Order: sequence, then structure tokens, then C-alpha cells
Amino acid sequence: MRIRVLGCSGGSAPGREPSCYLLERGVAVDAGSLASSLSLEEQQEIRHVFLTHAHWDHIRDLTLHTINRTPEIPPLILHGLADTVADIRAHLMNDRVWFSAFELPSPNAPYIAASEIEAGDTIECAGYRITAMAMRHTVPAIGYLFDDGTSSVMLCADTGGGGFAKSLPTGGSPLRAIFLEASFPNRMHEFAAMTGHLTPEMLHEEIACIGDDIQIYATHMKPGFEDELRAELAALGHPNLRAARDGDVIDV
Ligand SMILES: [Zn+2]
Ligand SMILES: [Zn+2]
Repeated sequence: MRIRVLGCSGGSAPGREPSCYLLERGVAVDAGSLASSLSLEEQQEIRHVFLTHAHWDHIRDLTLHTINRTPEIPPLILHGLADTVADIRAHLMNDRVWFSAFELPSPNAPYIAASEIEAGDTIECAGYRITAMAMRHTVPAIGYLFDDGTSSVMLCADTGGGGFAKSLPTGGSPLRAIFLEASFPNRMHEFAAMTGHLTPEMLHEEIACIGDDIQIYATHMKPGFEDELRAELAALGHPNLRAARDGDVIDV
């Protein structure tokens, strides 16, 4: 399985794009940098976006991506929790902040069609078996386990932890990698917990039950804290832990 990291920042600044991961066959997870990190031609290939939750750093480019889609291509299928889709409709594509891409250009052939998913659901899509897992955050959030029949990869949403790794589904292809956030340095533990995020120490607790054969990619660093976070992640001494970077192409 190939994962292209379009953006793995928890914010936005030059060289730091917000959350967006491109898989194969037109599948993306989150839409933070779906327009800014792909050429217009590449954007025509996008068929499915799996949203983890409705926070801005995960949906920012959904609006601008819609107008980059040519009328000839099929609607973008937007997968997410009912709460997430409802928030997009009510607060973003509400004919005020942005046009309603769920109804335009026509209700029969809109820019976007919603497909709701619940935590615990497994669906088949674009050659993957995809399982949604609940994540502890300040708003309803899920992460996604992608299984392409050969290997599995877990792409976590923002999470305040809660031991998700202990309840990872079993029985599918071997788990090869987990993308997991480390938003704030250890000294900001209280703020991280309050905002539904992890520090490197909290990340370490989450992956304590994970085998050494699974690669961990730390993501979602908040801008300005990257150097401190990289040093704290390195100090954990975990042999298979490294920070993801925008532009990474990861084969598992
Ligand atoms: Zn976020
Ligand atoms: Zn969030």
C-alpha cells in the first residue's frame, strides 16, 4: 500500500500543510491540503475522501477542491460520521460561507455526494476494506484502518488517546503502520488533554501494546513546536517511531 503525505501538520504555514493523506485509486483521508498539494490534473483523479472529523485543519481544502473538479467527472464521495457531514452542510457548504456542493450543479449530479459511516463499520471501497474506529476528541471523530488485502495501515484522527490500539480489529491483513498524532510537547500535557490531543509521552502510552514490527508515524504537530516535538519523540527511544513529513511517500 502506498500512502502519500500531502499534509501532516496540525496547522498551516509555509512548508506546513494541514492534514491530508493520499492513498491509491483516488482515495484520500482528510482534505486539509487537497487543493494546495495536488495539481489540477491530480485532483480530477480524486473519487473518495474519508473525513476523520470536521475540524478546520482536516477539511480546509474541501471547498476549493470542489471548484477545481471538472463537470465531467463523477461526484466526489465524502465519507464521514453523520455528525461530520451535518457540520459540513450546516457550517461550511451552507450557501453562505460556500455554496452547497451537495446540491450543485444539480441535485442529480452534484459536486459531492455524502456517504455516512459509523464507528465500527467496515466498508469495501476502491479495493480496500476500510474500518472506522472511534477516536477520543472534542468533537465526534474516527480513524480509519485500511486493508488492501496484503497489508493494513491505521490512519488515526486527532485523538486524546483512550487506548484505541488495544481494540484494533484483528483478522485482516497484517498491520504494518500507524499514523498517530503528537500535537503538543510534553510540558503542555494539560492543554493537550483538554483539547483532545496527544503529547509524545501520551503517544508512547498509546503504542505500548504495539509490536516492534509496526512502523509508527507521528503527525499533526502544531506549528512552532516541531523541533521540540521531534526531540521528545527521539528521546522515547522507540525503534520504529519517526515523524512524518509533508511530501513523504510511504510504501508498506
Ligand atoms: Zn487537527
Ligand atoms: Zn481536531
